[in-house]
Amino acid sequence: MLDRLFHPSINVRATRYLGALARCSCHRCGREMVAIGIALEAGHQMRIDDGARGGVGPLGGVWRTVRSPAWLFDVEYLPRRVRVRLQRLSPGYRLAERPTTGGHRWLNHCPHCGAVQDDDDLHGEPDVAFMPFSLSAAERIELRAIDGSFVAAIGGHCDDPPLFGAMRRTGRAPT
Ligand SMILES: [Zn+2]
Repeated sequence: MLDRLFHPSINVRATRYLGALARCSCHRCGREMVAIGIALEAGHQMRIDDGARGGVGPLGGVWRTVRSPAWLFDVEYLPRRVRVRLQRLSPGYRLAERPTTGGHRWLNHCPHCGAVQDDDDLHGEPDVAFMPFSLSAAERIELRAIDGSFVAAIGGHCDDPPLFGAMRRTGRAPT
């Protein structure tokens, strides 16, 4: 696949990022797997509609700093250097057709049966992999710091997620 150095829909950027690893069950075969999510620390930036120059389309909008950490999901584009780092942590994170809404997104795949795991099942409801509702569940999520600049085109951004501070920081991801 052609790797574009610039994507017109890039709408989030940061100076570093976190690969989050959480245990969950495959929705198809039911076996346990480890899913990866992307988190950003407070201070990352989002490109938003400035209301004046035709919205947030290509090259429009303004960059605003977000003062809280956030989960990213519904990821449409990642530059090669970012996707390589994430795939070292979780080889099942690949571009695939999103089962619920269509369109290609970066999604987790079950290592046992290959099923695509939709982001809604990992992020979208209380008490799922990346939305823990108990301290013990939050403490089981592992956050690996990844050095290097980050950009992406995303459709989902959940800022100030509950219990984010309780998740385990386990050092830097392999380079
Ligand atoms: Zn499976």
